[in-house]
Amino acid sequence: MSAATLSPEILAKYEPVIGLEVHVQLLTASKAFCGCANKFGVEPNTNVCPVCLGLPGALPVLNEKAVEFAALASMALNCQVRERSIFARKNYFYPDLPKGYQISQFDKPLAELGWIDVPTADGGIKRIGITRLHMEEDAGKSIHDGLADSANHTSLDLNRCGTPLAEIVSEPDMRTPDEAWEYLTRLKEILLYCGVSDCNMEEGSLRCDANVSVRLKGAPQFGTKAEVKNVNSFRYVRAGIQYEIERQIEVIEAGGRVIQESRLWNAAEGRTYSMRSKEQAHDYRYFPEPDLPPLIVSAEFLEETRKKLPELPEARRARMIAEYELAAKDAATLTVTREFADRFEAAAKTARNPRRVANVLLSEVGGRLNALGLEQEQSPVSMEGIVLAADLLDEDKISSKQLKQLFDVCFEKNEDFAAVYEREKPQQITDASALEALIDGVIAANPRQVEQYRGGKKTVAGFFVGQVMKASKGQANPALLNELVVKKLEG
Ligand SMILES: [Zn+2]
Repeated sequence: MSAATLSPEILAKYEPVIGLEVHVQLLTASKAFCGCANKFGVEPNTNVCPVCLGLPGALPVLNEKAVEFAALASMALNCQVRERSIFARKNYFYPDLPKGYQISQFDKPLAELGWIDVPTADGGIKRIGITRLHMEEDAGKSIHDGLADSANHTSLDLNRCGTPLAEIVSEPDMRTPDEAWEYLTRLKEILLYCGVSDCNMEEGSLRCDANVSVRLKGAPQFGTKAEVKNVNSFRYVRAGIQYEIERQIEVIEAGGRVIQESRLWNAAEGRTYSMRSKEQAHDYRYFPEPDLPPLIVSAEFLEETRKKLPELPEARRARMIAEYELAAKDAATLTVTREFADRFEAAAKTARNPRRVANVLLSEVGGRLNALGLEQEQSPVSMEGIVLAADLLDEDKISSKQLKQLFDVCFEKNEDFAAVYEREKPQQITDASALEALIDGVIAANPRQVEQYRGGKKTVAGFFVGQVMKASKGQANPALLNELVVKKLEG
């Protein structure tokens, strides 16, 4: 079964409906309800205690930092945080869940009614609703392969039991796999800016399930949904949703019915497989957790937490576009992480002209990194080096051509800008008579452009500046050169 069997006309009859459930691990030092370290990659089954193993008589104690992080994420996602939320037991059996239940939240989650704005294909903005953000604990891990006896046994690592999670459930507002991808990208960026999770998908600290259904365009009700489970990259989420949309349309077109079920994405085959029929909420027999009191979030706690909210990516981009006169694409580059945007802005503040720092960073450093396929962290030129280069340019101590030559050396020899500049100290011609001689030569060789200039086309001066700069091998002092060119042309 593949997309090739569905004509565009048939696909166009249907409207996909997509909702996403995202689990993120919170970056607390300890687990949600015990003092065990919240750490990835340590020796299996060493970060465990009676509480996170659910041994009889052990009592959970809520980690305040986890509440702070979950509340911070809720506010960043425009959710309303409830003053009173309730922890509930979600009961199910799984080998990596020794307690037999997960502490979660059910009908009274921590936060509700949020949203994220995502860009659309036609250049607009679409608001995707967030139904709820609730707190819960993670389960352990079943390891089916990679160990010596994996052929015969499944191994269990219970270190992850009790790790604090925020589950963020969207409204079924998305209509294309691309919208889902944009939503996830924004969500991850916001969470990273808030510092509440490292959102590392390979390590499982961000996991995504997609609910997908299709309906005939204009139909009043949603179709039956299938859930695509635990897809481990945004690219696969997009591909899994696309596959699922086409699979369901084929089922319906063939006269069948879509079954409500969980399906696993198989990246190697590029398809989903039926995993099990989907549980309904009532299958879990939720009831209020008897060992934890209601979670009360006071106005004071919320106010203190709100103070920790950073400037969020979208707002920061808008401000930086205005402040540094950037194109949207360049603002996106400079805000790729909060850390990088912070470093850039701290450096730019120390420069004579902050906008020039942005220019040098984007064109000279960014351009070379792109060409070499390198990341910002791999740049030989530090932020201080970029500020120095921008200042030299701003003071006309070097020409832009010399700047380019110096940056070439930095990247060839993997050296920072200050060291290269000190060694090479490019010569500048500041002697007016020497420059005048060069200008005279260029003027004599280009009578047509001289005529244009004198006919009123003043922009032609730039042509002469360029030619003389070339003749001086980039060594002419730019300010003096500009001045003398105009003087000669007017004369
Ligand atoms: Zn523990």
